[in-house]
Amino acid sequence: MAGVRVAVVTGSNKGVGLAVVRALCRQFQGDVYLTARNPQLGEEAVKTLNNEGLCPLFHQLDINDLKSIRALQDFLKEKYGGLDVLVNNAGIAFKAADTTPFAIQAEVILKTNFFGTRNVCNELLPLIKPNGRVVNVSSIFSQTTLPKCSPELQERFRSATITEDELVKLMETFVKDAGNGVHEENGWPSFAYGVSKIGVTVLSRIQARQLKESRKGEGILLNACCPGWVRTDMAGPNATKSPDEGAETPVYLALLPTSVDSPFGLLISDKKVLAW
Ligand code: NDP
Repeated sequence: MAGVRVAVVTGSNKGVGLAVVRALCRQFQGDVYLTARNPQLGEEAVKTLNNEGLCPLFHQLDINDLKSIRALQDFLKEKYGGLDVLVNNAGIAFKAADTTPFAIQAEVILKTNFFGTRNVCNELLPLIKPNGRVVNVSSIFSQTTLPKCSPELQERFRSATITEDELVKLMETFVKDAGNGVHEENGWPSFAYGVSKIGVTVLSRIQARQLKESRKGEGILLNACCPGWVRTDMAGPNATKSPDEGAETPVYLALLPTSVDSPFGLLISDKKVLAW
């Protein structure tokens, strides 16, 4: 199957991820994998798309479970000799009314949105083939939460030379400071989801830089994006976009033609670059 192109979307049994799979099934020339941490929910989502005349394939993936990520890595290596499109969509948030203590919310949200996404990238980015596309679903909240950090933190997050290790340490520090109730005095906002998405946007900037160095000339493009405010279980029924509309920007980035070399390493919303 080494000649067959392949796309993988994380957290795609519902919401934006499912809509991204739907659009890729229609527009991507190759196999499209709907993935879910719960195989039953994944298979049900596959059936939903089958009923629309679409044929996604399924693979289990829990982005918080390194064994699960590595099983997908082995499968892709063996069956396709790599990966053409990766959409890191899986993410979580707490409802505004949720009374879970901030320290726990910080730990749980960062675990999935930042550390889980990073683990998927660490295992799957080496498989990305020439002209591959990687889309990290971040959020506009990364941009709007950044100015709520201390000037020192803002400077580090905006730095063009910050390393992945430094970013990981900063994200660990936020979780630790939240656990000790000292995050505000140490310059962090009381918005764990926003901090987790700062992590995803900055990680994307770092990964793009790394690709420019290590995979120079291979035409790979990697970006972060915001899908907009989308009617899903996460954002609720009052959001302005349908899931299919929310999928438009991630799919645009996943299908950037081989003739272009930008956007690259940027945060994109409504197909436009957001300032960082
Ligand atoms: P949903 O809650 O509707 O869907 C989230 C998906 O992620 C579900 O399939 C969920 O699986 C999956 N997921 C959660 N944790 C894991 C995990 N550990 N491993 C694998 N899959 C997991 O959210 P949305 O569709 O709204 O959000 C999709 C992405 O878009 C997220 O990254 C979110 O932060 C981002 N976003 C959403 C916005 C919106 O307005 N909706 C706005 C900006 C960004 P399960 O069903 O098992 O829970």
